[in-house]
Amino acid sequence: MRVEGSNSMVPCPICGESASSHKVRVRSGKEMELWHCACCEYDFFSHDPTSSLAANKLDESRLRASGLNIPTRDIDFANGLKQSRQYIDEYFDTDDQGVKILEVGCSWGYFLKLVRDAGASPFGIEVNSLRARYVNNDLKIPCFSDIESCESSGNRFNKIFLFYVLEYIPQPVTYIQRLINLLEEGGSLIIVTPNLDDALKDLYHIEGFINFFYDEHAINYFSTQSIRQIVKFLDKPSARIETHQGYSFINHMNWFLTNAPRTTNVVGGDNFMRDITELLQPRDTRGIPGWENKHYLMAGELAKLIHEFDSNYRKILEMYGYGNQIRFIIEK
Ligand SMILES: [Zn+2]
Repeated sequence: MRVEGSNSMVPCPICGESASSHKVRVRSGKEMELWHCACCEYDFFSHDPTSSLAANKLDESRLRASGLNIPTRDIDFANGLKQSRQYIDEYFDTDDQGVKILEVGCSWGYFLKLVRDAGASPFGIEVNSLRARYVNNDLKIPCFSDIESCESSGNRFNKIFLFYVLEYIPQPVTYIQRLINLLEEGGSLIIVTPNLDDALKDLYHIEGFINFFYDEHAINYFSTQSIRQIVKFLDKPSARIETHQGYSFINHMNWFLTNAPRTTNVVGGDNFMRDITELLQPRDTRGIPGWENKHYLMAGELAKLIHEFDSNYRKILEMYGYGNQIRFIIEK
């Protein structure tokens, strides 16, 4: 059995140097041994969560254990579609029509459905057997249960996406190399994963958030430095690496006030700014003549002020590499 700060050798899965460890409390309340590689600025757990993920256990540790509801499939699908539209806007262009696109960790297949609607040919990999069956049988989109069966299918892809998936995958460098092998020449691999460098944890030091940050199924906690190390070992120095702040200032202040999470229906982000702007639409509630003009101007000024503040707040976090998402693109 390992003890805190023990020297038992666990190598860093990225660089192979020996890592150090300390105990952390994870989201479900358990205490676990977390490993850290100083060179890669990378935290990790040393177990393989794959069998538990396959058995549909993720939402229990990720959501229920923190008092958040597990959405039904229909609600999950509707939320997933909304979020996927933003990914389509960002990463899908007209050149992608007719090409093969793979999403690893496709869940219920909402992103792949939009890929098909946009005219490309979608494929999925999903370890959760319940969801993989839904994608295959209900959406009629080919979905593999693991990377091995995708490799043996002989398909090659123009784009491969991983949205909030790499954090669950053991030996990430080897895995990414296998994904690069599945790309066509000139194809790209697009990865979004949470950032270890997080303002709520490292700047505000919010205790509730620190106990919420680590989840027993998510074994990789990368910083931008970890990704620079990964692309160095993959010999892909031209990879684009950036952080993106998906959560608003309002979300941060909610943590400050309540010390607890709140359902946002978005993975790694929220729509609180949009909701507030909608709330600030002028309405005549008192029947006062001339209200339209006065309320319209005031609501407009306030909405603009809040929006500008939030957008500058996010820019500062991103400038220092503290956006809550790391986004990187590797080209073959
Ligand atoms: Zn390392």
